[in-house]
Order: sequence, then C-alpha cells, then structure tokens
Amino acid sequence: MVLTEKQKNCPYCHEKGGDHRVKMIEDDPDGQAGLVLKEDGWHIWTADPFTFEVLHPINYCPMCGRPLNEEEE
Ligand SMILES: [Zn+2]
Repeated sequence: MVLTEKQKNCPYCHEKGGDHRVKMIEDDPDGQAGLVLKEDGWHIWTADPFTFEVLHPINYCPMCGRPLNEEEE
C-alpha cells in the first residue's frame, strides 16, 4: 500500500527505536488519550476521571488513517 505524506510523517503511529511510551494525542483535564505500541500491536490508551485507564486494540491510526496491522517498509 502507498502511504500519503501525512501518513508517512504522522508523529503518532510510527514507533522508532523501541520507544514504547504512550504518544499523547489529547491531554485535557476531562480526559487523556494516546497511542501505544505493545507486543501484540497498537492500542489506543484513554484515561478520564471516571473510567481510569483503558486500552483498546486499534487497526487504524485515528490521526492519519494508516492501517497499523501492516508491516512498515
Ligand atoms: Zn498515524
């Protein structure tokens, strides 16, 4: 598949150098969200005052739409 420039340069969904920290995409007093790469794939991490922390597996980057289950070249 051919990635768009936006997808290639997306700061959220490219994991470089084994840095497995959460990449924050939203950080408000009401809630936080971020992307994190785990051993079993990408997850979206959310936290808010009511649900505490939740991890959901994702197949597409919510920021650029890139499929995350394909190998990067
Ligand atoms: Zn992305």
